[in-house]
Amino acid sequence: MNVPLLDVRRQNLPLEAELDEAFRRVLHSGRFILGPEVDRFESAAAEIAGAKHAIGVSSGTDAILVALMALGIGRGDEVICPAFTFFATAGCVTRVGARPVFADSEAESFNLDPDSIEPLITQRTKAIIPVHLYGQPAEMDPILEIARRHGIAVIEDTAQAFSAAYGGQPVGALGDFGTVSFYPSKNLGALGEAGLLVTNRDDLARTARLLRDHGASPKYFHSMVGGNFRIDALQAALLAAKLPHLAEYTAARQNNMREYNRALAGLPGRDTVELILPAVLPDRTHIANQYTLRARRGKRWNWSESPRDALGRWLREHGIGSEVYYPVPLHAQKCFEMYGPQPSLPVAETLANEVISLPIFPELSAEERRAVVDAIFEFVFSAAGLTPGDRMAPSTERA
Ligand SMILES: *Cc1c(COP(=O)(O)O)cnc(C)c1O
Repeated sequence: MNVPLLDVRRQNLPLEAELDEAFRRVLHSGRFILGPEVDRFESAAAEIAGAKHAIGVSSGTDAILVALMALGIGRGDEVICPAFTFFATAGCVTRVGARPVFADSEAESFNLDPDSIEPLITQRTKAIIPVHLYGQPAEMDPILEIARRHGIAVIEDTAQAFSAAYGGQPVGALGDFGTVSFYPSKNLGALGEAGLLVTNRDDLARTARLLRDHGASPKYFHSMVGGNFRIDALQAALLAAKLPHLAEYTAARQNNMREYNRALAGLPGRDTVELILPAVLPDRTHIANQYTLRARRGKRWNWSESPRDALGRWLREHGIGSEVYYPVPLHAQKCFEMYGPQPSLPVAETLANEVISLPIFPELSAEERRAVVDAIFEFVFSAAGLTPGDRMAPSTERA
């Protein structure tokens, strides 16, 4: 059975009537840039984020960029962010002329390790960007406490965790800014590119709205240099049609996560390969944007590839989609060599070698989930030599 990593058609096609109606409304309005569709979506999104302000922008990446610009971060400044995250988190810091300073992560949550932040703070540190990776909120209390004590800003990269909560409060507006992505693979996916900024601060919201539209107010009078970071009215209308379903999508993902965790608990062969299942830490909701496990080498592992790479290949050969988010930690990326030698970050480096994400999209069927679980069992049995005879490694990669 073929199981894709993601199939957005299964989510969007049942909403064809609503999405058609949204499209027709925008077509007939003739308002394609900002306007009432965007206002309406921003209000609904602000409510979900528990934020006073929501500002629709062109992508999750541009949301981070605008947040940094609105905070006045630029040349000579430093911004602390995890090395184990998607590139945009740090790429935007470099784009505004500041320097990303990479911190290590916690192995259990995959998120920024609060203990690794303080030693990195200097006179130049202007912000911390925790990322709520895979849909699970980072440890925000200590991060906010450190930021407050040092007078530095917090931008939550909420790209993968829109509607998740920490300590009973939605993430995004816990710090100064939250940045959201509606890339099609996120829990709320647009039919193209879109993003959002959320904040409780009136001053930052005002600045971000200006920056989104070239810093002009009124039109053609520029008090600051912004850019074109506007969200399409069409994407806002389509997102508004999907928004009422977000809670269902998330519940289905969470159910998939629970079912995987149940089915994969107690896998044998740990002295060959140990699969560490994702944990939900206390006092927060994990919206299960990704189901990511760690394939860890046991002392009896004797294939030439790493267990993670072998598992990915095994799944591919069994028709099952998977992905490595992310194979190279950011402090080891070529583009950041310009900052000179980087200290090693052992947890980020280990995670980059061990993580693999499985299909978890809401519309995944129980049968598909079973096929994924069966393939993983077969992989472990094969690697550990637990089945007789014919269940061999799938290729010549055996050492
Ligand atoms: C998806 C993502 C982004 C970027 O969002 P885009 O909408 O693709 O620009 C930023 N950070 C993280 C952690 C992401 O997962």
